Amino acid sequence: MIKRIPGTKDVLPSEIDKWHFIENIVHKIFHNYNYGEIRTPIFEETPLFARGIGEETDIVSKEMYTFNDRGGTSVTLKPEMTAAVVRAFIEHNFDSKQSLNKLYYISPMFRQERPQAGRLRQFHQFGAEVIGSNSPLLDAEIIIIAYRILSSLGLKAILLKINTLGKPLEREKFKNALKEYLYPHFEKLSDDSKKRFSGNILRIFDSKDASDVKIMSSAPNIQDYLSESGIAHFEKVRSVLDKASVPFEVEPKLVRGLDYYTDTTFEILSGKVGSQNALCGGGRYDNLIETLGGKNTPGVGFAAGIERIILALDNENALKLTPEPLDYFIIRLNDDSANAFSVAQHLRDRGFSVELDYLDRSVKAQMREANKLNAEKVVFIGGEEEKDGLLTLKFMKTGEQVSIKPEMISEYKFPAD
Ligand code: AMP
Repeated sequence: MIKRIPGTKDVLPSEIDKWHFIENIVHKIFHNYNYGEIRTPIFEETPLFARGIGEETDIVSKEMYTFNDRGGTSVTLKPEMTAAVVRAFIEHNFDSKQSLNKLYYISPMFRQERPQAGRLRQFHQFGAEVIGSNSPLLDAEIIIIAYRILSSLGLKAILLKINTLGKPLEREKFKNALKEYLYPHFEKLSDDSKKRFSGNILRIFDSKDASDVKIMSSAPNIQDYLSESGIAHFEKVRSVLDKASVPFEVEPKLVRGLDYYTDTTFEILSGKVGSQNALCGGGRYDNLIETLGGKNTPGVGFAAGIERIILALDNENALKLTPEPLDYFIIRLNDDSANAFSVAQHLRDRGFSVELDYLDRSVKAQMREANKLNAEKVVFIGGEEEKDGLLTLKFMKTGEQVSIKPEMISEYKFPAD
């Protein structure tokens, strides 16, 4: 028996309503803010991610699904979307058509992580990338959209944390100051953080190791390295969030794992999903487009994990989805299945949802099935009235029934209908 690969999931018909609900809200809210949807391939040439995300990150160094295809090209299943969207932006010269591009996506992602609750190897993200402006309004817009989507889904126990990493130069100065501060503590750092020291030093803030946490509690603070323009950018973001009544906390240690962030970073956490509690994260990336071979163009974006959101919705008991009722169930009283099928077809052609018996079941069993499917109306075919060219139509809510010509069924309304 071949089973699914650990860390992957089947979304079953019984669960799909949640996915549709989330996807519909995502499409609707991005439409509100005039974002266009983009879909990129599942795989890309490996250097796109290696260069875009950064060789030193966990994603690139440990987690990518990378293999040589039969032509010998190294390809990678996309572990995140930003690099792929930026690749498409450059390849299609988006900026020659309009100077600001507001894009969103819903897509599967692949990372070879150790599977656990809320951490999968194939998972799904929705998110956005806005390319072409360094306006702090857009940092705020991105955060507001992420927050609005999560709250529109019904989530209550969510916490927005924001930070700034400053302009590229400030970020570099801060990294140097960190290096200087950490140098005397180097031997006491965890092995992972020792590696981060020379690779991606900001990531040491993410460490859960007790000795690292203690050392980092007195580490330099980015706020002390911000220039006036860096401070003004962050203040503007906060004031737009305040005006939009989006509650947030400033978390100076929020650096996020990726190499490319500058200025604003943010995360939205759930209080209801255990250790993997980040539902969503993002920030500004003013260097990335140039790193990937484009012109110097600023960008800002976020990504949110759908499986984790579903976990949070389940744990908050926030979703009250009732399955769509079936419009009609056709019950065969005799064995004229072709006639039953053509009545069903007539109704389906008019846009109704219709089911009938394919298993030659007894009338009682068909009735049970109609109830199970929550059918609003039931059509009985092959009764006494068939000799007059009529069928019986029954309204399940009240039990009323009428004899009716087949072609009239779709238009017939019961008094309580
Ligand atoms: P990241 O791209 O790592 O910032 O992740 C953005 C969001 O995607 C996270 O906040 C999670 O909700 C989700 N996510 C990231 N990695 C995984 C994973 N391995 N399994 C499930 N969801 C994930």
